Amino acid sequence: MVMNAVNPFATQPQQSLGTMNEATLMALSQQGNPGFTHAALLEQAAAQQQMQRVAVEKNIEVPKVNFYPSRHPDPRKARRKDIKQAYKLLRPTKRSIFDPRRWAWWSNYRYNKNTAVCVVDGCNVMELIQHDNLYAKICDEDTGKSLWELYWQNPVTGEPEAFVAREGVTSGRKMRGTYCPEHLHLYHLLCKWEAEEEKEAEMKPSRFRDKVKKGVSIVSVPVSAAANTAPPHPILKKYEAFFAEIMADARQTKGIYVNFITNPDTGVNDITHIMFDNRMFEKELLEMANPTPAFQDVLRQQAAMHQQHQSAPPLPVVPEIQTEAQQ
Ligand SMILES: [Zn+2]
Repeated sequence: MVMNAVNPFATQPQQSLGTMNEATLMALSQQGNPGFTHAALLEQAAAQQQMQRVAVEKNIEVPKVNFYPSRHPDPRKARRKDIKQAYKLLRPTKRSIFDPRRWAWWSNYRYNKNTAVCVVDGCNVMELIQHDNLYAKICDEDTGKSLWELYWQNPVTGEPEAFVAREGVTSGRKMRGTYCPEHLHLYHLLCKWEAEEEKEAEMKPSRFRDKVKKGVSIVSVPVSAAANTAPPHPILKKYEAFFAEIMADARQTKGIYVNFITNPDTGVNDITHIMFDNRMFEKELLEMANPTPAFQDVLRQQAAMHQQHQSAPPLPVVPEIQTEAQQ
C-alpha cells in the first residue's frame, strides 16, 4: 500500500510475500529466476513478517515491499525482469512534481536527511535498530551472513557504519539516506542477480574476442598457489551439526548470541564465541505469555485465519496475479 502511494505507476495491488503460505512460496521458487531460490524467498517473506511484527509492537510506520518474482518460463528473462522490478522498487523517492523543491537538485528527494531514514519510504531505521536489529536477523541464504555484517559494518574496523544508498540504486551519486531492512534485502538480492548475469555474460565468446582485441590474454593460476587454508582440526567435524543449529536458533531468539572475532592481520575468523543469555530467554517467555494488546490482536487474527484455512476448500497453489502483463 505504501509502495503504491509512493509509486504512481504501480497500478495493480500485489500480494506481498509475507502473507503467502509455504506452498505458494515453494511454487514460486520453482519458476522464473533461478537466482531467486526458495531459501531467498523464505528469507524475504520472514523479513516482511518481522517488520510487520515490529510495526505492531512499537507503532513504527514500516513499509511493505511488494516485490513479486517473475514467473517467466525462460530463467534468464525471468531474472532480467526481477532485476528491473527491483530497480523500480529501490529507486529513491522524489518529491512531488508540484513541490518546488523537486526542481532544486540538492533537495529533489523526499527522504534524504540522514542515514536514519529509508530513501524509498522514509521509515525510521534508527528506531527499528534500537528496538530490534532486523538487519542482523536477515541473512544471505548461501553464506549465512546477515545484512548487518554485509552492509552495516566497516569492513576494516568492524565498527557499525550505516549503509548509504545511491541515486541510481547500484550506481550514481551517494545519498544521505539508507535502506530499511526489507529494502536492503531486496538490494542484496539485486546485487547477487546482477553478479550472476555478469558472470554469464563474461562466458560469452564475444567477450573473449573483445579482450583478445585489447591484447588481454588469459593465464590460469594453479589452484595450489591460491589455496591457503589448512584442513580444519578433525575434532571440529563433530560440532558442525551443533553449530548449524546454533546459527539457526540465534536468528530466532535474542537469548543465543554468536560472536565471530576476526584476526585483523589475516582477516580469518579465529575466535568464535557462543553466549546463552538466560535473562533474555526468560524475558522472551514472559513476552510470549503476556503479549501487548496490539500483539494479541495479531495473534487473534492469525488464529482466525488458521481456522478459516481449515474449513475452506483447498486453494489453488499459485494465486492469479498478472505480473508479467504489467511489465
Ligand atoms: Zn524501506
